[in-house]
Amino acid sequence: MDLQFTLPSRTQITNIGFDSYYQGCPGCKSKIYAVQHTSHKSVQEIGTPFIRNIHNVESKTVRCGKCGWQGSPEHPYYPKNYTVTLGVITYALKAALGTDNCSAKTIASQLHSQHHVDIDDKTVQKWIDHHQDTFLNEIGCDWDTPAVISPLISSFPSLEVTPDPPPYASKKSLRERMRSTLQAKLFLQQIQRRPSRSES
Ligand SMILES: [Zn+2]
Repeated sequence: MDLQFTLPSRTQITNIGFDSYYQGCPGCKSKIYAVQHTSHKSVQEIGTPFIRNIHNVESKTVRCGKCGWQGSPEHPYYPKNYTVTLGVITYALKAALGTDNCSAKTIASQLHSQHHVDIDDKTVQKWIDHHQDTFLNEIGCDWDTPAVISPLISSFPSLEVTPDPPPYASKKSLRERMRSTLQAKLFLQQIQRRPSRSES
């Protein structure tokens, strides 16, 4: 049988309802609330070369029915002011700071061609600049990441998260490799910033 290589890519949309992640009032834990405002935003999640993966996230400003607290609780997997999920940002930081040591341009290109995420390389560079210290200190070393991320997305009824085995032999060696990568980058930046000696 001949294979058909002209299959079209498709978009998969996952709706994330407010009640699927609302943990209750931060003051009194009550889940009874009155809605003051509702909005939706579409964010890009990691996809495949053939599937664009969009999450449509519902946000609400609520007033607690018990104590009167008001606020707009956020889902940590969909950080405010980002058009992508935390998973996409984590992917980019891992590619930049891990052993692959990719440039922002390469990461943006991979996200586009392999994962159907459209983001420009300047934005990727901003993520790296803003978050690399936090990433290396808090997340980068614990690279059996499902332990970090899966609690955040466990509220998705439609998604099942099966932790992959850690891709590296030991966390310690990964931490060391990532730190040495970062140190090498900083060292190179320092060298490049040094004014070149004038030649006589
Ligand atoms: Zn309350």
